Amino acid sequence: MSSLIQKGGKRPFLIAGPCSAETEEQVMETVRQLHASCSIDVLRAGIWKPRTRPDSFEGVGEEGLKWLVDAGKMIGVPTTTEIANAKHAELALKAGVDILWIGARTTVNPFAIQEIADALVGTKIPVMVKNPVNPDLELWIGAFERLEKAGITDLTAIHRGFSVYKHPKYRNVPSWELPISLRERLPHIPLICDPSHISGKRALLLEVSQKAMDLNFDGLMIESHINPDEAWSDAAQQLTPANLRILLDQLVLRSREVSDTALLGLEELREKIGILDDRLFEILTARMRLSEEVGAFKQGHNITILQEDHWRKMISSRLEKSGEYGLAERFVRLMMDALHQESIRHQTRVMNPNVHLPPNGKAD
Ligand code: PEP
Ligand code: MN
Repeated sequence: MSSLIQKGGKRPFLIAGPCSAETEEQVMETVRQLHASCSIDVLRAGIWKPRTRPDSFEGVGEEGLKWLVDAGKMIGVPTTTEIANAKHAELALKAGVDILWIGARTTVNPFAIQEIADALVGTKIPVMVKNPVNPDLELWIGAFERLEKAGITDLTAIHRGFSVYKHPKYRNVPSWELPISLRERLPHIPLICDPSHISGKRALLLEVSQKAMDLNFDGLMIESHINPDEAWSDAAQQLTPANLRILLDQLVLRSREVSDTALLGLEELREKIGILDDRLFEILTARMRLSEEVGAFKQGHNITILQEDHWRKMISSRLEKSGEYGLAERFVRLMMDALHQESIRHQTRVMNPNVHLPPNGKAD
C-alpha cells in the first residue's frame, strides 16, 4: 500500500505539474502558480520523455532533476518523475526525487521493468506504475509483482488509457473495465487516473476526471503548464494552474459510503433489477433451446450453421433500433455477437455431437 496515497483518504489526491520540465523558470513559475491556486499533493514533471517520433523534444535530462526537486522543496510537496531504465532510477534517486513513476511504454516491457526493479532493491522508494499502452491487465499486474519481489511495496497504479489507431474521441481509450479489474485483483494498491493522457485535449479533462471520481479512483494526475499552447510536449492537453483550479471546483465528489436510508432505497431498486435479470436469463435459456431446434433442422437439411445473409440482416435490424431501445450501438453489437456465439455453440453441440479431440490432443 502506498504510504502517500491512503485509500479512501482525501479525494482527489492530486498530482500535478508540467508534462515536461523545459526550463528552470518554467518549472518554478508553474509550481508557484499551482501552489497559489490548487492544493497539490505531489509535483510531477517529465525529465526524460518517451516520444513517439524522433526529432521531438525528448526532455531536458539530468539537469532538470534539480529544478524539480528544488520546486518541490519550495512549496513543501514531494516530487515525482518518469523513469524508463536503471540509469534514470539511479539519477532520480541521487537527486532526491521522492516518488518514481514508470510510463506506459515501459510497463509494456518486462525486461525494462525487471531492470528497474533490480536497480531499486533496498531503496523502499514509492513507485507508481502506469498501465501498459496495450490493454493487457496481466502485464500491468506483472509489473507490480516484479517490483514487490524486489522489496518495493509502496506501490500505486496510474490509469492513463490504452493506445488505439485514430480514436474519434480519446487520445488513449479509457477501457474503464481494466482499472476496475485491477482494483479487484490488487485491492491494496491505490488507483490514480491520468485524465491528461486519456483525453489528449483540454475539453475532455473534466468529463474523464469526473468519471474517475464516480468510479472511486483515489486520485488524479493532471498536467499543468503556465503557457499550455507553447508547451514543448503535450500542448493540447495541458491546463494553466488557474484552469486546473476551475476543473477541480467543478468536480462533484460523491460519497463512497452508503447511508442506511440510501441503502434501503438502493436495495428496493436492486431487487427490481434482480427480478428483471432473472427473466433475462430465463429468456436466454429458452432462446438457446430454440437455437438447438434450428441446429437439428439444419442438420436434417444438411446446411451449414453460419448463414451469413441472415446474420447480417439480424445485426443491422437490431443496430437500427438501438436508438429506440435507448442502448448504445456498441452495446447492441456486443450483445448480438455474444448471442450469436452462444447460439453457434448450441447448434454445434446438436449437429456435431461426436466431433471432438481426445484430451491428449491426439486423434482417436
Ligand atoms: C507523461 O506522463 O507525460 C507520459 C509520457 O505518460 P504516458 O507514459 O502515460 O504516455
Ligand atoms: Mn505528457
